[in-house]
Amino acid sequence: VQAEILNVGTELLLGGVANANAARIGRWLAGLGVDVYRQVAVGDNPVRLANAFRRARQEADVVVVTGGLGPTQDDITREVVASELGLPLEEDAEARRVVEGFFARRGAPVPPSALRQAVIPRGARVIPNPTGTAPGLIVECGAGTAILLPGPPAEVEPMLADAARFLLARLAARGEAGTVIASRTFKVAEAGESEVESRIADLLAQANPTFATLAYPGEVHVRVTVKAPKAAEADGLLGEAEGAVRRRLGDLIFAVDEKTLEDAVGQLLCDRKLTIAVAESCTAGLLAYRLTRVAGSSAYFIMGVASYANRAKTAVLGVSEESLAACGAVSPEVAREMAAGVRTLAAADLGVGITGVAGPAGGTAQKPVGLVYVAIADAAGAAATGLHLHGDRETVRQRAAQAALAMLRRWVLARPAAE
Ligand code: ATP
Ligand code: MG
Repeated sequence: VQAEILNVGTELLLGGVANANAARIGRWLAGLGVDVYRQVAVGDNPVRLANAFRRARQEADVVVVTGGLGPTQDDITREVVASELGLPLEEDAEARRVVEGFFARRGAPVPPSALRQAVIPRGARVIPNPTGTAPGLIVECGAGTAILLPGPPAEVEPMLADAARFLLARLAARGEAGTVIASRTFKVAEAGESEVESRIADLLAQANPTFATLAYPGEVHVRVTVKAPKAAEADGLLGEAEGAVRRRLGDLIFAVDEKTLEDAVGQLLCDRKLTIAVAESCTAGLLAYRLTRVAGSSAYFIMGVASYANRAKTAVLGVSEESLAACGAVSPEVAREMAAGVRTLAAADLGVGITGVAGPAGGTAQKPVGLVYVAIADAAGAAATGLHLHGDRETVRQRAAQAALAMLRRWVLARPAAE
């Protein structure tokens, strides 16, 4: 079964909005074992949408369209699809219930314009939209199927389960329910893409499962994808592939799939019953933000200080005037004193200090832009590591927080677990 994804919205072409639906629908179809052959983005223009839809329908068995189902004049998907398929538009009782239900839940009157969304191609099936007004639609056209979903990704997400049930039933009826495509992602923060690649070079040459590396700032992902006739087999293959990846990357892997580096660090701190406080100069809160993104972080995170000015470093953290004068604010000494100072201030098990030159100005020959010191303090003392990070101001800040998290993880892993 071949599918095409058609995302409607001029904002996608202008770059105002990244095409999140293409990615989400792509993953969704892959999970259902449907091969996506093309993704197309098209503006809110009836002629161009009609052309794109016509071509997609000729080439694919399943066309998933997102966007343009709303009540406004630029929402043209229903009209264009109906006209391309030669179906009249009619008000549908179920679609009307979806629209009215949305306003009823909010105790608001139904604006007359919203009822446009209940006017759908004859014979279309309605997919309820729990978080928005526009019903989704499934339109069967000969051997093919068009699935129309709204634009906002938060509305699309809760509609996918219904759409999947329909699609799987339809594929089964055609005797095509078959392949399951499943993937798993392993994440590494302490090695670059080329190192990861060379460690798994033999795997990269394989076909099923396939292995691929993806590089992000301060992070490399290894994605394994398997194809199998049944979910259980796919699971088995994934398990074997995971073993192969883990044998080559070991504890460089900090997390799998949706888990983040801060999730991994949080889990370790929880397991070891350690508390933490952070003092940040160049990142000014980024590390605290990432540590506290994790639900349950109150179990280990005590406080963060955005100590930007030297005065704040001395007054709040107890960094010595001498270190600042002799070594400068960006130095291993000051990073260590920040880490130790915030640890004491918070009465935490661990303290982290980050100080660096984020740029674009302020770099010197001795202390270039991107020079960052990260220190970790515990009861035994503090140790600082110097990093040379590249990228613009924002990237240096992000990479510094990322590196601090990776170092924290390594620090905790290197300590034996309590009891
Ligand atoms: P609405 O009822 O909200 O108007 P709609 O189905 O008409 O729903 P659009 O008008 O096409 O949807 O899009 C609404 C908003 O959803 C867009 O402004 C955009 O922010 C977001 N959006 C639309 N398509 C996408 C997409 N492919 N990826 C990410 N965001 C999108
Ligand atoms: Mg709209």
